[in-house]
Amino acid sequence: MKKTLLIYPLLLFSSLLFSCGTFKENKETSRETCGQGNVKITTDFSTARMDECQNTGDNAYLITLKPEGTPINSSPWYAFKVQATEPTFVTLTMKVQGDSHRYLPKVSTDGKVWQLQDYVIKGDRLVMNIKASPKAVYIAGQEIIDNQYYVDWAKRLQQSSNVSHDIMGQSTQGRPLYKIESRANPQAKEWIVILGRQHPPEITGALALFPFVETLLSTSELAINFRKKYNVLVIPNINPDGVHAGNWRFNANGLDLNRDWKNFTQIETRLINQYLEKLVLGGQKIKFAIDFHSTRRDIFYTMPSDYGVESPYFVEHWLGALDQHMPEFNVIQKPGNNPDLGVSKQYFSDKFDVHAITYEMGDNTDRADINRIAVNASNTLMDILLSDIDHTKK
Ligand SMILES: [Zn+2]
Repeated sequence: MKKTLLIYPLLLFSSLLFSCGTFKENKETSRETCGQGNVKITTDFSTARMDECQNTGDNAYLITLKPEGTPINSSPWYAFKVQATEPTFVTLTMKVQGDSHRYLPKVSTDGKVWQLQDYVIKGDRLVMNIKASPKAVYIAGQEIIDNQYYVDWAKRLQQSSNVSHDIMGQSTQGRPLYKIESRANPQAKEWIVILGRQHPPEITGALALFPFVETLLSTSELAINFRKKYNVLVIPNINPDGVHAGNWRFNANGLDLNRDWKNFTQIETRLINQYLEKLVLGGQKIKFAIDFHSTRRDIFYTMPSDYGVESPYFVEHWLGALDQHMPEFNVIQKPGNNPDLGVSKQYFSDKFDVHAITYEMGDNTDRADINRIAVNASNTLMDILLSDIDHTKK
């Protein structure tokens, strides 16, 4: 019987030219290396992940992806590099243990500019042909954004904006947990809190967080006025151990941080909770929080407007305004309330009586669109927060 080859549409990304940093944090130990003859497949960089690699024939390799624990959300991350002493075509087959593929393979030779890699799906396997050469080719599920990228990004922000960049504490494995703060006006007491990267492979969430925050901290008249009234706290990379390890979802203790905002069993969530409590004890007020993630589509998970928090219609007004500003983008708001789950948005609402959202970008959303949506969402948020619209009425 003839086998059918499914060729997935690769035109979803009209542009995939996101620029990332260089990889400075090396793996202490290479998780997996494989190769034969002049070909080498390695994982000696931060965020790398290739759980098993097997030589299956002439320049052919089978790579198996495995989660760091089960049960776990389907988010099979991979990142490795391929090189050969002389130009060689290499066939790489990937399979996921107990799960299916989620992230379309992307390649880069410099770790900055990424392109979609052609592939075919054969049953539960994803097969691609790579031209290996002495210059290593990075292959990953999404663009690689490692821990160092966040540090470099914060330094760039500091060049154009009056923000502080400090270490809040150490992660489970002792990596720094950074915060960025804008406190432009000593009289301003209200805080907008921005969180990111609880789930390491959720890169499109990170790609939205960067322009969103850059817009809040920009030199536009709107942003300058906004920062006279509101302080901004950004914790862009909450799970640095998971990011380093190339985890699918968990922190170094094998726990989902976005299920820990109720019991605070993990140092990463505990540090943030303690810091926010200290702010409030010092007379500051948490006004709103946004937590950036990725999923299969663009969606904003909100708290219901009748949940009982202050300014009940504020989020509806904001996202409604965003929808009007961007006729080509369908803003989906999904209100929900789950007091026992331990997700960050519920924590903010229950603890501080304010709205909070989970800002989710689709895995395959066009990168230029992610940027456009974030800039518009950020500007619209500032507009709404500075306006005198009555958020107690629909
Ligand atoms: Zn997530």
